[in-house]
Amino acid sequence: MKRLIVAIDGPSGAGKGTVSRALSDALGYRHVDTGAMYRAVAWKARERRAALDDEGTVAELARSSDIVVEGGAVSIDGRDVTRAIRTPEIDRAAAAVARLPRVREILVARQRALGAGGGIVMEGRDIGTVVFPEADVKIYLDASAQERARRRAADAAHTGGQAGQAAVAESIAARDESDTTRTVSPLTLAPDAVRIDTTGVPIDQVVRTVMDLVKRKSA
Ligand code: C5P
Repeated sequence: MKRLIVAIDGPSGAGKGTVSRALSDALGYRHVDTGAMYRAVAWKARERRAALDDEGTVAELARSSDIVVEGGAVSIDGRDVTRAIRTPEIDRAAAAVARLPRVREILVARQRALGAGGGIVMEGRDIGTVVFPEADVKIYLDASAQERARRRAADAAHTGGQAGQAAVAESIAARDESDTTRTVSPLTLAPDAVRIDTTGVPIDQVVRTVMDLVKRKSA
């Protein structure tokens, strides 16, 4: 069977992580969470007290960092930041560094290298539009803002267990705004992507739908 490149894009809380993991497990593909790469850069920028809009400095931090995002764990320069990057502060900081064109250039080049041989499920915001415009399968997962906030608030791994749904909704709305309006690689639906609204749909049903699309392509 052909080993495909599967792109999973969409806003925060749409179910990208759950669907991508289930899919990569079922297919025996690698799973790459590109949001974790932006988060790791943001974490390092905060640690170094760099201004998040200082493009030269943040890009240099990204370029000189060894970022590993495999098997659910995330490390930067050998330091495990799996939990440290899932805080409201890093939510904001990641969206800020993701606006910087030179930072994106560096991370996109790494993402392309990771997926070059196929057999990969890559999730993010610009995978089907910019990183792999030629991806074999492009999925755009979406859900109502209310449902996405509810899911995130219930997910302690994403909120540090401290945020109520109203605070999460506000933070998601701010990130949506930043991600969809930035000049470089804004979050947008690729013309050839399949959009799936996951509002009220059990996640295993979403996984089955995506799996069927992948199977049709790889046959
Ligand atoms: O997916 P996650 O919420 O972890 O992503 C964190 C931030 O990284 C997003 O808000 C977005 O600004 C940025 N991002 C991006 N492009 C990607 C993945 C994430 O700009 N491919």
